[in-house]
Amino acid sequence: MSAQSPPAEDLRYVVCPVCHQKLERVDDVISCKGCRRRYPVVEGIPVLLADRALIQ
Ligand SMILES: [Zn+2]
Repeated sequence: MSAQSPPAEDLRYVVCPVCHQKLERVDDVISCKGCRRRYPVVEGIPVLLADRALIQ
């Protein structure tokens, strides 16, 4: 196992750091189904940090 973040396409084991709901890839961002925050994807790696979220 590596310490790297999973690729943006593999969100099976990843949940929102804020509300812990499932995430889905929407275009070039990761969208949370729970709190509707959107997280950027930088060079293919989702940045799942609450203070980096793009709140709609
Ligand atoms: Zn959320």
